[in-house]
Amino acid sequence: MIDVYLGLGSNLAEPSLQISRALEALAHLGQTTVLRCSSLYASRPMGPSDQPDYVNAVVHLQTLLTPVSLLAATQKIELQQGRVRKNEQWGPRTLDIDILLYGNEIINLPQLVVPHYGMKVREFVLYPLLEISPNLRLPDGENVTDVIKNCPLNGLCVLSCAPPF
Ligand code: ADP
Ligand code: MG
Repeated sequence: MIDVYLGLGSNLAEPSLQISRALEALAHLGQTTVLRCSSLYASRPMGPSDQPDYVNAVVHLQTLLTPVSLLAATQKIELQQGRVRKNEQWGPRTLDIDILLYGNEIINLPQLVVPHYGMKVREFVLYPLLEISPNLRLPDGENVTDVIKNCPLNGLCVLSCAPPF
């Protein structure tokens, strides 16, 4: 089994509910076990600021799915939860699932880049990640505890404890 970390985000249609539904869907994926979900966090939007705040969480799972199969599965969950892809980068969405880490693998495919390019500078990724895996070391050898020193909270706060799954 490979240890995987996913970043979940939503800022439309009852975001907290979107995150808990996504977590349930992940728990039902074949060849996959969800181990842990962080608390739900409220964060300020990246990019266009004329959109609601986000709810974010990070999920730790173990899977036998290949990275590309896992991406297909997470994109299917995004679509099931009514995601409409628009051209606007970082625009509002019902559900975003990003593959942050897939074991220690470095993946550079046209459709999948892992570790996720933004994970080391995004407070809504690093703080939930630290909560569930304080001893985590990234594939480049850096510890999350060190990376987070350069990442201010930017208004991030805990909304509620992890949903059931
Ligand atoms: P963003 O998450 O940056 O707002 P999207 O969720 O719309 O953007 O994803 C755009 C594309 O990013 C997807 O079609 C997917 O193929 C690609 N992608 C590349 N790397 C990853 C990753 N690590 N996790 C999820 N999607 C990724
Ligand atoms: Mg995404």
